[in-house]
Amino acid sequence: MNRINTLFQIKYPIIQGGMIWNSGWRLASAVSNAGGLGLIGSGSMYPDVLAEHISKCKKATNKPFGVNVPLMYPAIESHMENIIRLGVKIVFTSAGSPKTWTEILQKEGIQVVHVVSSVKFALKSQEAGVDAVVAEGFEAGGHNGREETTTLSLIPDVAHHIDIPLLAAGGITTGSQMLAAMILGADGVQIGTRFAATHEASSHDLFKEQIVLAKEGTTQLTLKELAPVRLIKNEFWQKIQDAYQNGATIEDLQALLGRGRAKKGMFEGDLVEGELEIGQGAALIHEIKSAQQVVDDLIMEFNSALKQIPASF
Ligand code: NDP
Repeated sequence: MNRINTLFQIKYPIIQGGMIWNSGWRLASAVSNAGGLGLIGSGSMYPDVLAEHISKCKKATNKPFGVNVPLMYPAIESHMENIIRLGVKIVFTSAGSPKTWTEILQKEGIQVVHVVSSVKFALKSQEAGVDAVVAEGFEAGGHNGREETTTLSLIPDVAHHIDIPLLAAGGITTGSQMLAAMILGADGVQIGTRFAATHEASSHDLFKEQIVLAKEGTTQLTLKELAPVRLIKNEFWQKIQDAYQNGATIEDLQALLGRGRAKKGMFEGDLVEGELEIGQGAALIHEIKSAQQVVDDLIMEFNSALKQIPASF
């Protein structure tokens, strides 16, 4: 029996990443109904908005679902209060120390998974008592690790160092990549980019079209001095590069970024001035589909890739 399926009581070890401005109740419930685990991305939601999404998700699915909480979220206590009060059973934390919330949530009967981008933080997460770890490589969209370790290098290394269940993330868009990640030692996968290009994602249609148009080299990791983030190379991205050329300080970069760029790009569809956070896997996406179709495709591709592996050489 697969450890992730057993842990979360789901059919397939496919977790939909909780992406800001993309992952509301509609996407999370659709992925859970399709046999994976849907996550509500709470980082872009005010506490009352999160409460509404949790309530709607509970009505839309009787399958397990969870909430992703970036630990740097400004009103984190209110988010956690809502999560506990509304009976959420699974929380994925990211961007912060797993020591702060793991025990508190687990005492409430909540399973906790922490997202890391290095072996060092995978070990810290295990020490903090989390139920599983997501190891996310350099290919991933949005906020990312500083070490630039790719998924291919990260997963076997983390798998070697920890005993708890491991989910691979970063660049996984197809079933063959899912199989590859599991051969490298992961028990399952967390997929963001592929689920951002679905009908159920809450992001703007213009952003979804950009995902479909993306090719190899369309995205780049930038703003390492603030928080490293992988973006589509649009006009805003170019402004960042120009600022670097002109010797911008951290304060200059902060001023250029301002506030709400991610909302502008992904939610409001401002393709010029907004941040368009997406992973390298976008190059492999050619169509906007339903979440159910994405899960079905992943499983079909996984099984067909498995048949192509020679039994021995
Ligand atoms: P900004 O500081 O640029 O803007 C804050 C945005 O978050 C605004 O658009 C605001 O909406 C919305 N928001 C939701 N709840 C609150 C709140 N309680 N206080 C203030 N603003 C809130 O941040 P970003 O857009 O870059 O990031 C937003 C959040 O998402 C952060 O908490 C960050 O931790 C997280 N994040 C996580 C990523 C990941 O990969 N895990 C990637 C990027 C961000 P409004 O405009 O309606 O006021």
